[in-house]
Amino acid sequence: NQKVVLVTGCSSGIGLALAVRIARDEKKRFMVYATMRNLAKGEALVEAAGRTLGRTLEIKQLDVCDENSIKACVNSLPMRRVDILISNAGMGIIGPIECQTIDEMKTVMDTNFFGLVRLMKEVLPDMKKRKSGHIVVISSVMGIQGILFNDIYAASKFAVEGFCESLAVQALRFNLNISLIEPGPVVTEFERKVYEEGLKIDLSKADKVTADMFQNIYLKNYSQIFESLGQTPEDIAEHTFKMITMENPPFRHQTNTLYTPMTTLKYADPNGDLPIETFYKMVFEHDKVFNASLNFLKLLRWRSRKSFTVEK
Ligand code: NAD
Repeated sequence: NQKVVLVTGCSSGIGLALAVRIARDEKKRFMVYATMRNLAKGEALVEAAGRTLGRTLEIKQLDVCDENSIKACVNSLPMRRVDILISNAGMGIIGPIECQTIDEMKTVMDTNFFGLVRLMKEVLPDMKKRKSGHIVVISSVMGIQGILFNDIYAASKFAVEGFCESLAVQALRFNLNISLIEPGPVVTEFERKVYEEGLKIDLSKADKVTADMFQNIYLKNYSQIFESLGQTPEDIAEHTFKMITMENPPFRHQTNTLYTPMTTLKYADPNGDLPIETFYKMVFEHDKVFNASLNFLKLLRWRSRKSFTVEK
């Protein structure tokens, strides 16, 4: 009576850690289909999966930007059954919008947002028929709050959240669960890729103030944010594992208690100015305010009604 779990984007980072964590369940409650766009990049997963490979974990090809590949993957599963869908594949983009092309932006939307939509179109109808299933989406704190120079990425995650929040009402009618996992910074390939792309941006299309803000403030502090607040992919895997094994999973879950005071600012001021002004001060009065803010964040612990913690 194993539950079938389909995870996307498993060649690295959170997806890899997650697939392995679930496959390693001591009670062997899950059969994990760990999928990736390019099977040639499966080496790290094969190594991490160890003895679970061919037992509770199988690797399959799936490109979230290609409907046919999603269909072929789901059709290859016994009875097309997916009990738990984990939509994890995603990509980042940073920089001033003046320096990004519409095509680059569309690729991010196509992966992060339409990737999820394509998966849902393939899996949701079967779940509705069976009146059982759990859809877990790796969103981000940027799905509820925008961050400087993450305009397009945040927009893609806001789209994900709006989509899921709307569908969640319908899902109740079919006894299905939808859950959004909202990590803050996580130290993965994602961070490195986004940073390296950031360094390559041709800033000549931006004015001097914007270019300076990006290069000398944002990029300079980028690594520090990950160092001071960053979680590991294994942390996120543990939170997600808890989400799929709990009785009554919440719709939203933020994984980083150091970050939650920031997102709480959003709900503290209905006008929406408080978080924007706070971020402004953090960025532009960096040295004075940033360290003070970090210490403050470390003191605060915010817990929502259905929130849960994960023991280390
Ligand atoms: P990562 O780059 O290691 O993993 C992303 C994975 O998605 C990669 O394996 C990549 O190959 C895959 N992918 C990209 N396009 C794909 C496609 N078209 N089809 C299938 N797979 C595709 O980074 P990560 O941090 O593990 O990211 C996983 C998820 O976590 C993403 O949705 C990301 O937005 C989210 N997230 C990351 C952070 C962070 O700071 N790293 C924070 C919050 C949320």
